[in-house]
Amino acid sequence: MNLQGKVAVVTGGSRGIGRAISLRLATMGALVYINYVSRSDAAEETKRLIESAGGNARILAFDVAVPEQIQTAFKQIVDESGRIDVLINNAGITRDGLVARMKEADWDAVLATNLKGAFFCAKAASKPMMKQRWGRIVNISSVIGFTGNAGQVNYAAAKAGLVGITKAMARELASRNITVNSVAPGYILTDMTDALPEEVQEQLKKEIPLGWLGTPEDVAGAVAYLVSDDGRYLTGQTLHVNGGMYM
Ligand code: NDP
Repeated sequence: MNLQGKVAVVTGGSRGIGRAISLRLATMGALVYINYVSRSDAAEETKRLIESAGGNARILAFDVAVPEQIQTAFKQIVDESGRIDVLINNAGITRDGLVARMKEADWDAVLATNLKGAFFCAKAASKPMMKQRWGRIVNISSVIGFTGNAGQVNYAAAKAGLVGITKAMARELASRNITVNSVAPGYILTDMTDALPEEVQEQLKKEIPLGWLGTPEDVAGAVAYLVSDDGRYLTGQTLHVNGGMYM
């Protein structure tokens, strides 16, 4: 329970990996701001799950691809709660396509949400964190940022870019007792991977030494470690949560 009295923001906290992270941080005692962009029903359900487990949560809709919306939202959090201690940059999308066919709009959408969005959220959160002289930022990258993947050049660029942001911000903010780390999941069972055909999922399992696809809770566990006191001496690092798929 070492996040008692702390305020956490989870972008894309309404579904999938973000929901598991939101639940985990609330269980650790944090007041969790659940962000989403379009599906309010999923955010409501996550809030309900947190409250029925005895935790506290609020919902905050904003589009991480729009810096003005981020600014307004983070100001609202500080006005309401007086602080921001933990930021999990989890919101992410895919717009897959082979290089030859990838449209500028698909490149821009993925970079704006997955990379630029994470930077502007971290920029907004770092202000109160610097004042408090304490903060934890975790960027959700991907195994694809390390291995690449045909048809995902935009996604791979954004997820590799997050690792660069993690290291640069970790150096910049360390003197204020703010750690910045990243978690790079492998294949995790969520709406994002549900879309994969059965035969692709079977093939994937063969490429994973542990032999199974991970769960959102597996990722949430790594995040919990990084934001807890046990993780206080890690900064600028990436934890790979992938069943051994990439070592
Ligand atoms: P889901 O598609 O299940 O959920 C995505 C979440 O992000 C939703 O809450 C969604 O909100 C939110 N979101 C999307 N766009 C925006 C936006 N512009 N502004 C605010 N919120 C937004 O994804 P996963 O849980 O599978 O993935 C979560 C993260 O983990 C992503 O960054 C993904 O790249 C990464 N990841 C996932 C892996 C996997 O196997 N699933 C593997 C490696 C990394 P709404 O419902 O309102 O659209």
